[in-house]
Amino acid sequence: MVTPQVVGRFAPSPTGPLHFGSLVAAVGSYCLARQAGGKWLLRMEDLDPPRVVPGAADEILAALECLGLYWDDEIVWQSQRIDAYAAAMSSLQRRGLVFDCACTRREIHAQARSSNEEGLVYPGTCRAGLPAGRKPRSLRIRVPEEQVCFTDGVFGHLDQLLSRVVGDFVLRRADGLFAYQLAVVVDDAESGINQVVRGADLLSSTPRQIFLHASLGTAVPKYTHLPLVVDEMGNKFSKQQGAAGIDYAGNAAGLISEALVFLGQELPVEMVGAPPHEQLCWAVSHFNLKKISSRPQALVVV
Ligand code: GLU
Repeated sequence: MVTPQVVGRFAPSPTGPLHFGSLVAAVGSYCLARQAGGKWLLRMEDLDPPRVVPGAADEILAALECLGLYWDDEIVWQSQRIDAYAAAMSSLQRRGLVFDCACTRREIHAQARSSNEEGLVYPGTCRAGLPAGRKPRSLRIRVPEEQVCFTDGVFGHLDQLLSRVVGDFVLRRADGLFAYQLAVVVDDAESGINQVVRGADLLSSTPRQIFLHASLGTAVPKYTHLPLVVDEMGNKFSKQQGAAGIDYAGNAAGLISEALVFLGQELPVEMVGAPPHEQLCWAVSHFNLKKISSRPQALVVV
């Protein structure tokens, strides 16, 4: 049997400049795809207009080029793929997997029996049909009472009972936008992505995505989640919490070294601060997945 070519990707959201957490995802996914002789694709996740910051996508592309992280093929822009998401949604609807939901956030809040870091677990209010007199707002997929199991490249064997952790989840939001979970699965499938490497903040979304791949009959990629970036106090370091953009123009070499050190790669002394393409070339041949910790890591300035 011929082994298919590895196809990896980096999928930033243009909601601000590239920050260190996304740089780590870019470097990790780049090295693992290139090490396998595979492609590394770029997808701009600009699906949610209210969150898109004008100019951020161009800024991210400029940063990647400056850092020597060159991608293959055409960039996929989620804002241009609405028809593909609608087609996937119709296919799920034809199979009776989707239902209309009239619930507002406030109603879910009032009725939910449990919540966790993913938010409130949908209480199933509209699962058996819309309550009398109510209008549909969003579309949700029905989740079964079955564990979704997978083996992550860093975190090992994981399982999640979707019905307990998230419940029937939204595929089309009340504002008419397709949900991230649907878009990411449709895009990964259509681009032939078979290796997803990204931040551990998305680890708990993975069972939903695996379930959607199974529901759509598309191939499930291999998932590898990279440790979260935390500050010295152990707090999450992310765009949402105002983590600053990285100084890619002034410190490209230092940033690549910091990302590799963060990922546990033992960069030889002469490589620390070497031009980005030299470091990446070293990293592609020496990258060792086993050196990546699953524990949150603080950034060490080299
Ligand atoms: N767009 C997401 C982010 O920037 C990543 C999505 C993914 O890698 O699946 O956090």
